[in-house]
Amino acid sequence: MRRTTTAAIVAALGITLTTVLAAPAGAAVPSSAPTCSGTLTPADLATGCVVDSGRLVLPDGRTFAVPAAGTSVAALPVAVAGVPDDGDVVVTNTGAAGVAVRVDDTWAGSPAAVTRERAAEQRRTLSPEVRGRVGTGAATTAATTTAATTAAATSSCTDGSYSLAGHRWKTTVGWRYNKANEKTLGRRLVTDGANAWTGTITACGKTVTSRAAATYLGASSRQSAVRTDGGCGSPDKTNVVGWSRLPAGVLGVTCVFYGSGGIATETDQRYSTGHEWSTTTVCRAGRFDMRGVATHEWGHAYGLGHTSASSKLVMKPSATTCDTAQRTLGYGDLRGIDALY
Ligand SMILES: [Zn+2]
Repeated sequence: MRRTTTAAIVAALGITLTTVLAAPAGAAVPSSAPTCSGTLTPADLATGCVVDSGRLVLPDGRTFAVPAAGTSVAALPVAVAGVPDDGDVVVTNTGAAGVAVRVDDTWAGSPAAVTRERAAEQRRTLSPEVRGRVGTGAATTAATTTAATTAAATSSCTDGSYSLAGHRWKTTVGWRYNKANEKTLGRRLVTDGANAWTGTITACGKTVTSRAAATYLGASSRQSAVRTDGGCGSPDKTNVVGWSRLPAGVLGVTCVFYGSGGIATETDQRYSTGHEWSTTTVCRAGRFDMRGVATHEWGHAYGLGHTSASSKLVMKPSATTCDTAQRTLGYGDLRGIDALY
């Protein structure tokens, strides 16, 4: 429509067309880009449409408030071991190039946005052993850890693999706890999970100093942005940890909102009320270890993605009952937080 209007003005003013069209070529939004809104699927976004509002529905049922132009949202779950995992989701709104959607390593949405985001992911992935995502780059240090990730029964101290989700923080994460629907007294254990990644950390005989930081700001009645379907709603500038129903087989979900430079602006967590949790030092049999799962969720919040399912690291994609080993960083977890902070 803008092109038609421009042409009409051009005709009226009698200016040469090439002169006038030189300006729109450099504008933020190409005049040819369609817009879309409302309830959208990845197929709708494949038209390359420009979106500034609306709701994205994935084939697996998760829904996302479309992020503002220039921002991304990630939904990072942890599942019950043995249950098929729907995967990590990243939705990036590039503005003029449309919206890219990634579910684990499968991309959908606007082709132009996908091309751009895939290239960005390649650039920021520092770890060559990460789930086979990077085939080139600094491979000289990868030989031993690549072998480690493929071994079925790797110890957490010989497996150096980690994965970067695509964001990091430049500030301390000030977070609040909403105890509505609280299944168990979780706040202190969520704090333990946050602190596992900060300060001077020794694991597997190695010590690093992490600049990642979180601070508990108190109780809140605000809602976590994590949706009961496992997707993410809109950010509200408050980092909230809470409880709700989540899809069957999902123990917890972390949503992270970040800008085009990958700098995080908000993170929210939710833990499932559909499972039994242990809060004791010695885990109560048949329950999921609150502190261990919280440590995993904070790994996501700070910027780590999943390692392979066979790894014994904190950032493996699923947990068994009483997986208390997940409270303690393994070698790959330590390398991952060190790479980010
Ligand atoms: Zn996870």
